[in-house]
Amino acid sequence: MRIDRVFKKLANTLPFMMAFIDTERRYQFVNERYEQFFDVKFADLKGKLVAEVLGAESYERISQIHSRVLAGEDISLREKVTLRDGRVLQLEIKYVPNQNQRTQQINGFFAIINDITLYASAADVLRAVHDVMNRQTMGLSTDRITKLLKLGCEYLNTDIGIVSRVIDNEYTVKYAWSTGDAIAPGTQFELGNTYCSVTLAASDVIATRNASKSKAFSGHPCYAAFKLETYLGLPIRINGKVWGTLNFSSAASRGAPFTDLDKELMGLLCSAIETLIINNSKTDRLERLAYTDFLTGLSNRLFINEFFERLVYENRERLSQYYCALVDIDHFKRINDEFGHDAGDRVLQAVALEFTDSLRNDDVCARVGGEEFMLLIHADADSDTARLIERLRQSIASLEIQHDQHRISTTVSIGVTKLQETDSFNRAYKRADSALYQSKSNGRNRMSWN
Ligand code: GH3
Ligand code: MG
Ligand code: MG
Repeated sequence: MRIDRVFKKLANTLPFMMAFIDTERRYQFVNERYEQFFDVKFADLKGKLVAEVLGAESYERISQIHSRVLAGEDISLREKVTLRDGRVLQLEIKYVPNQNQRTQQINGFFAIINDITLYASAADVLRAVHDVMNRQTMGLSTDRITKLLKLGCEYLNTDIGIVSRVIDNEYTVKYAWSTGDAIAPGTQFELGNTYCSVTLAASDVIATRNASKSKAFSGHPCYAAFKLETYLGLPIRINGKVWGTLNFSSAASRGAPFTDLDKELMGLLCSAIETLIINNSKTDRLERLAYTDFLTGLSNRLFINEFFERLVYENRERLSQYYCALVDIDHFKRINDEFGHDAGDRVLQAVALEFTDSLRNDDVCARVGGEEFMLLIHADADSDTARLIERLRQSIASLEIQHDQHRISTTVSIGVTKLQETDSFNRAYKRADSALYQSKSNGRNRMSWN
């Protein structure tokens, strides 16, 4: 009896869970740690079968091990255990059989249990981050960032993961992953209407699992608008400056509070994402260079060709919503001859500026030759296109381009064709070019259709 009390006292000071199970696989003792962890009272557990506490599937596996231990074997193992309440845990368990001193019979066994769920899933995250960052075959930074967002959501058990770009008070979704409806990159919010305003104001990782009960979040406009209970966000810094945020959120309140380890791991995820963003901006810059005409800043022939191909690839029918116009400067050689090559360059730049000023977002304009430009105009009707091009022609004709002491005027000839679903880039180009030839032979400074 005395020994029993000493044993219990000792067992309760242990920093791990301990249980004694008898040969019938009934609980005969559990320490306080065990009670706390499984949220049970020993009084309720005493005499109960292990099978009643573990889920059926887990018990089936583990009961075989219990049999071996009861036959005298010491066994250590790692187990993924599903409890009856649905919790999935990673446990490290050491089983030690116990002999009755007098009879030498095994009368049960001790189970010494450590919960390594946190460490195990942290290790999973670290492994996955390493994998995402180093796998050669994964391709674009964008895919990698999305993968990391998914990983973060799975680890934190949240529904939405976002990388946002924040400029002044404007919050733009750059990359997103979600268990529900997709969140489109480019979606914008006012920073003040997002929880990330709290994160950026604190300049640190901020988390809540119960926004409605938190002072910082419950009165926040974001709570009013989206009713997000769970949120963890941290600033993304590029070159020492705040670039945006990494944030995870859910409408539902998270079961367990965020731990320091959770925050540390998301910090690591954030550094990985920062590296990918830097890589991405490098590829972006190279891509921009490859698609840009150096002299005018317009797109180049490669770009407009790929734009066309992309339309065909995504939905050929969309071609018929576009008009293709070829624009060629009249007697451009004379300008070079009369005022010099630099003056010619200035004229090219001035004409290019007229295009960018008069075209809309859906339209594309490229310099496809020395003094030849191609426009893809998104329009419903011939008449709209004709009006737009006529206005463009007139505004170029009325330009007075200042160079050295000279004022240079110029005109353009234009060939227009409506794109057809069956068009290839070259076919459309040829049609527009023969319309352009018409304009030239009819006296220049005009538009013709084909
Ligand atoms: P047309 O009205 O028939 O089109 O006559 P044009 O003189 O405009 O046509 P042509 O094709 O005979 O001459 C085009 C000239 O454009 C020849 C070339 O030297 C010049 N050119 C091509 N690229 C550039 C450039 O980048 N800068 C300058 N300044 N001139 C260029
Ligand atoms: Mg010309
Ligand atoms: Mg030409």
